Amino acid sequence: MSDLLLDQLRAIVGAPNVLTDGDLTAYEQDWRKRDRGKALAVVRPGNTRQVADVVQACAAAGTSLVPQGGNTGLAVGSTPDASGQQVVLSLQRMNAVREIDGANMTVTVEAGCVLQALQEAAEKAGYLFPLSLAAEGSCTIGGNLATNAGGTQVVRYGNTRDLCLGLEVVTPQGEIWEGTSGLRKDNTGYDLRDLLIGSEGTLGIITAATMKLYPMPAAQLTAWAAVPSLDRAVTLLGLAHQYLGAGLTGFEVMGQFALSLVVRHFPAMRVPFAGEPSAPYCVLLENSDSESEDHARARFEALMEKAFEDGCITDAVVAENLTQAHQLWHIRESIPLAQAEEGLNIKHDISIAVSRIPAFVASTDALLQREIPGVRLVNFGHLGDGNLHYNVQAPADGDSKAFLRDEEARVNTLVYEAVAEFGGSFSAEHGIGALKVDKLEKHKSPVALGMMRAIKRGLDPQNILNPGRVLRA
Ligand code: FAD
Repeated sequence: MSDLLLDQLRAIVGAPNVLTDGDLTAYEQDWRKRDRGKALAVVRPGNTRQVADVVQACAAAGTSLVPQGGNTGLAVGSTPDASGQQVVLSLQRMNAVREIDGANMTVTVEAGCVLQALQEAAEKAGYLFPLSLAAEGSCTIGGNLATNAGGTQVVRYGNTRDLCLGLEVVTPQGEIWEGTSGLRKDNTGYDLRDLLIGSEGTLGIITAATMKLYPMPAAQLTAWAAVPSLDRAVTLLGLAHQYLGAGLTGFEVMGQFALSLVVRHFPAMRVPFAGEPSAPYCVLLENSDSESEDHARARFEALMEKAFEDGCITDAVVAENLTQAHQLWHIRESIPLAQAEEGLNIKHDISIAVSRIPAFVASTDALLQREIPGVRLVNFGHLGDGNLHYNVQAPADGDSKAFLRDEEARVNTLVYEAVAEFGGSFSAEHGIGALKVDKLEKHKSPVALGMMRAIKRGLDPQNILNPGRVLRA
């Protein structure tokens, strides 16, 4: 049966685009190297018709598909299970920018387009495509949409969902839904676009999308501030909203321990205020200005002056030029990599109302340190969106593999129960994938879960798309 299916797939996409032999690690292993599956084949269609034909062939054979973009997702959603019976459908060859419509301020792009390539295409045409995250050199817009990725500019431009005006989708039956109209108003029944966004490849395969473009800011300034506490960081955020208005395009917070990992593992990087006791937290702020650099600087200076006065910051540097700004962002973006260098760790991508974050961190830090003496807490994230990466690293002298094996379940329970107590979400950005199916069952309301299951059954009764991801198979 699988030989017959493989022959059909080769006939659809061409034999070189059906990979069965050789090293398939890049497709079969998740980004964090925590999970390794085995694919029946990796299939690389070149256009939407081919995607539809592949889905039809697989559905007829009863073979499930795992859509995959850049395979940078952090919830084990884009790699096959261990059965050796799933087809990985890689969208990477479908990477064209189909159209930039200046008057409509939109770009229509194929799902496999790498995010950075999309940003560059927009910039070349004189526009800004504001989605930005540390994986932008390899993640794809299809994957960003399927996970409703957030990133560093959500505080101004929203999540990927807010940037999308339309989708082209292949259904689990292999039909093509053409919805890339680029309309900003369209109240004609259920919003299928919003349903597909964030569905992690379980309801349809996104093959193209129409995304919003924005004017390029006239100037962009980045500052790095030493902050005496998380509480003060939250007050600083309020001031930044007040002083910068829509110019506030980034507000990231980083705890000293997170920064110390960058210093240890990437010693060439110069991290401002690293190790300074007066700076238990650092904040990265970005101000995008539509007028001029002078105007941007004046507004930034007014903000900083007030922040000093109010005791929200103890020191600050403002990048002199774009290179310095990129260096500051690079430090922030290197934290996950520095953490990986330090060893396996337990990650939590949580969101809580901004006002409640300091209390959450204080009480949860204390709880974990009481329960697991010596545990190291890595705190950083998009404070502007109430989104923290609240990660837990083994004690300094501990074996990180053993720590994960012995403590992960307990740590997760402690953290997620604390998140629930504070009215937060256990998955702010990274989705559910295979990693958090049980958490979804535990923390989502039964009514919401029932509606989700009904949608999945209604759209994909054969359970052909990404089974076992988001919802139990
Ligand atoms: P993949 O990993 O290939 O897939 C992710 C999910 O989407 C899977 O369930 C897959 O089946 C599905 N999928 C992929 N393509 C399609 C498609 N065309 N149609 C239907 N389903 C599809 N996320 C954030 O939100 N904010 C961040 O700041 C952030 N930073 C990150 C930093 C690093 C270093 C890394 C490694 C990841 C980060 N992420 C972040 C995770 C983020 O979800 C992914 O990087 C990205 O959005 C996934 O894109 P991808 O193309 O790699 O998708």
